[in-house]
Amino acid sequence: MTEIPARARAVIIGGGVSGCSVAYHLAKLGWTDIVLLERKQLTSGTTWHAAGLIGQLRASQNMTRLAKYSADLYVKLEAETGVATGMRQVGSITVALTEERKHEIYRQASLARAFNVDVREISPSEVKEMYPHLNVSDVVGAVHLPLDGQCDPANIAMALAKGARQRGARIVENVKVTKVHTQNGRVSGVSWAQGGEQGTIETDIVVNCAGMWARELGARNGVTIPLHACEHFYLVTEAIKGLGRLPVLRVPDECAYYKEDAGKMMLGAFEPVAKPWGMDGIREDFCFDQLPEDMDHFAPILEMGVNRMPMLETAGIHTFFNGPESFTPDDRYYLGEAPELGGYWVAAGYNSIGIVSSGGAGMALAQWIHDGEAPFDLWEVDIRRAQPFQKNRSYLKERVSETLGLLYADHFPYRQMASARNVRRSPLHEHLKARGAVFGEVAGWERANWFAREGQEREYRYSWKRQNWFDNQREEHLAVRNGVGLFDMTSFGKIRIEGRDSLAYLQRLCANDMDVEPGRIVYTQMLNQRGGIESDLTVTRFSPTAFLAVVPGVTLQRDLAWFRKHLSGEFVVITDVTASESVLCLMGPKSRELIQKVSPNDFSNDKNPFGTWQEIEIGMGLARAHRVTYVGELGWELYVPTDQAAHVFEAIEDAGRDLGLKLCGLHTLDSCRIEKAFRHFGHDITDEDHVLEAGLGFAVKSGKGDFIGRDAVLRKRDAGLGRRLVQFRLTKPEPLLFHNEAIVRDGKIVGTITSGNYGHHLGGAIGLGYVPCTNETEADVLGSHYEIEIAGERFAAEASLKPMYDPRAERVRM
Ligand SMILES: Cc1cc2nc3c(=O)[nH]c(=O)nc-3n(C[C@H](O)[C@H](O)[C@H](O)COP(=O)(O)OP(=O)(O)OC[C@H]3O[C@@H](n4cnc5c(N)ncnc54)[C@H](O)[C@@H]3O)c2cc1C
Repeated sequence: MTEIPARARAVIIGGGVSGCSVAYHLAKLGWTDIVLLERKQLTSGTTWHAAGLIGQLRASQNMTRLAKYSADLYVKLEAETGVATGMRQVGSITVALTEERKHEIYRQASLARAFNVDVREISPSEVKEMYPHLNVSDVVGAVHLPLDGQCDPANIAMALAKGARQRGARIVENVKVTKVHTQNGRVSGVSWAQGGEQGTIETDIVVNCAGMWARELGARNGVTIPLHACEHFYLVTEAIKGLGRLPVLRVPDECAYYKEDAGKMMLGAFEPVAKPWGMDGIREDFCFDQLPEDMDHFAPILEMGVNRMPMLETAGIHTFFNGPESFTPDDRYYLGEAPELGGYWVAAGYNSIGIVSSGGAGMALAQWIHDGEAPFDLWEVDIRRAQPFQKNRSYLKERVSETLGLLYADHFPYRQMASARNVRRSPLHEHLKARGAVFGEVAGWERANWFAREGQEREYRYSWKRQNWFDNQREEHLAVRNGVGLFDMTSFGKIRIEGRDSLAYLQRLCANDMDVEPGRIVYTQMLNQRGGIESDLTVTRFSPTAFLAVVPGVTLQRDLAWFRKHLSGEFVVITDVTASESVLCLMGPKSRELIQKVSPNDFSNDKNPFGTWQEIEIGMGLARAHRVTYVGELGWELYVPTDQAAHVFEAIEDAGRDLGLKLCGLHTLDSCRIEKAFRHFGHDITDEDHVLEAGLGFAVKSGKGDFIGRDAVLRKRDAGLGRRLVQFRLTKPEPLLFHNEAIVRDGKIVGTITSGNYGHHLGGAIGLGYVPCTNETEADVLGSHYEIEIAGERFAAEASLKPMYDPRAERVRM
């Protein structure tokens, strides 16, 4: 096998569209010494049979940026490589059959405008003009994206492969990677086999682009890649006379998409309950395989299709296609370096949008590998969000049967997964359930999102308007502001950092000053070299050599990976202790009165001021009381050993009866923190957001000495801010903000809301969002007229750079 070198700068595993795109983009960055190995033939996994829909608009700015990049690249690829890609910008139409769906697609249209994607709301009669074959009798609204398109997926992959080869990459077919070798916790090479021949390639970098094989391949090295294949269906009719050139059509309310191709019509399905496939593994000889047709499963979609497009009734069926594709627990793909193994990168799990995603994903991953830092915020698809337990196949089987259909489901705010629940539970779960908790799931954790009243239905009724728990949240929110509320935040990630060098190590990683007395708690960020925020956390000092970092449950793996990656010979031990302690947050102006009823300790400002902790007796147990808050009130986070959590909960509950103690859920935590303008990682602050522009300069101590990101902080201080995180409140009390609504400044869209909720104390919807402001003073920024565009309608908004709730932080120091 002379084609296969003994050494390469990177080895890409898998020759589908994902692997070809990574190879193409690495080669474009000058990485010519790379090899792509494909076990059979290029595209022979999932890529060859994709429908080839290229829709640019995705749920967030950066995902749209990537999809748009793909569309632009695919338009140019044919001229560059000479491979006909079939890319045609025929446009796309999405129609709504319900008012709720219309609201959703109109919201998407506002978002598209904010992201510079060409879009137009169109009436049912305009749909009919563009799509004469369509039954529009029950269509209530539609949007048209003229630059969306369709392509020939296999040829897109072939063109990317050719582009990579032209730049020096080696692409070898019929060679299977049998093993990834490691040395000192890093990738050191791969073994390959071809027929009877075997060999190894030394390399520091592998990229797992193995599609539905990726989970199993990763697991062999202890790498978590939770994905599983599902059967995915479409049919293609015989040629239909006079069909003409048509835009791609999506009818999400009927789980269907339509594509005209070579005079035939394709109808594809995203049915609500899908069929997981390959539970016992994938046959060794799988290559351009199809799965058996299942007309019974497809029939409900076809029936709706015939009503929607009556000509389907008489058009003969040319092909009934069923092929496997990988799906993930949250319907988002995986990109980035695996937290478990240095040099092991992943680009897989594309949830039926791998063609449109891979162009951009390959570009972003290549840049990430090249620079060692993500080129912009990719947290949504970052492999570090995967939880180790999610490798479990029973879990995956149950969950992916739901995620396939979610692509076309109503994307209501607060929508919860219905399948594969109850895997991670707090020791208080049954207590909360008995008291009316309605749970949501994050990272496998069941968390009380709101509490139903006695006799009230314990289910979400989803809507774009006020949902059925709005008044419950209001009562909880006002209890926190005026009385006392109790939250179960056991899902917090807890990381112990111990050892002789732990202080010096934390000083290097954190922007705030960690050299505080034992007994103190420091709010800080960990920054990257660009001053972007990699992590938002509190660090509690237990002793001269022991600290506890507390992070959001969903970022735990990411934060652990960041900590471990930055150990460089120091004597420091990092341990995930998340499961060892429950966290009960007692918050509100009456919290001191309440805690003093269950604990003999002194909770005065003298003994336990804001930002300190003490060990306390509580009930008949022991806990650590941390005087910090995420809701902007006097309060304590109580860290209780999990074995004593139920006891402490019962003691607090008994003592709280006279004080009107209210159990509160995560929705209230969120509405309270946005009133106080506290930032949330992943929404308001990401690795792309500079810590000073995020308004967190107060937690950066550049005078303490060097730390990662310090130079970028100093540079930004000199250059001035290019954007600022602003808090908004809608002046009308009715409309709601969730996320991603367009910010309009003096009549022009300038950004999007990064997180929103309802300010029950402030009396209107509230949100945070960045406003560009190069060379502007605070007064300039606030001097403008602001509106927020929601589903095409604009609403006046008040703007502030200081928290609208308790701007002088008097409440937390009561
Ligand atoms: C019916 C259907 C319709 C679809 N329609 C669309 C659409 O309209 N738009 C869209 O964007 N997406 C669509 N998709 C999704 C899209 O096809 C996939 O997301 C995409 O092809 C995934 O590409 P991939 O490279 O990750 O996986 P694959 O194409 O499966 O590539 C993985 C490759 O890795 C190889 N491999 C595995 N293990 C090894 C090993 N150990 N050594 C070497 N090689 C290995 C495999 O042989 C395989 O070729 C559709 C999918 C289906 C099933």
